[in-house]
Amino acid sequence: MRIGNFNNDESTIRFSLNLSCIACRKKVPGSMLTSEKYFGSYSFLLEIDTLKKNYLCGKCRDKKRLTNKIS
Ligand SMILES: [Zn+2]
Repeated sequence: MRIGNFNNDESTIRFSLNLSCIACRKKVPGSMLTSEKYFGSYSFLLEIDTLKKNYLCGKCRDKKRLTNKIS
């Protein structure tokens, strides 16, 4: 998963993030990619925070998609 906007020619950092699904609380280790410049910056931390607060695992995302279709 990519964090932030960066070009492919920028130096990047790979890191892992322990995400947990906000619906079923399942823990999902995420493999993240970001630019070296962005890593650790304030907007980077905000983005991670937002991601953690809104993260749904694949199963719950499918469920949500289905529910949206029905309603
Ligand atoms: Zn889930």
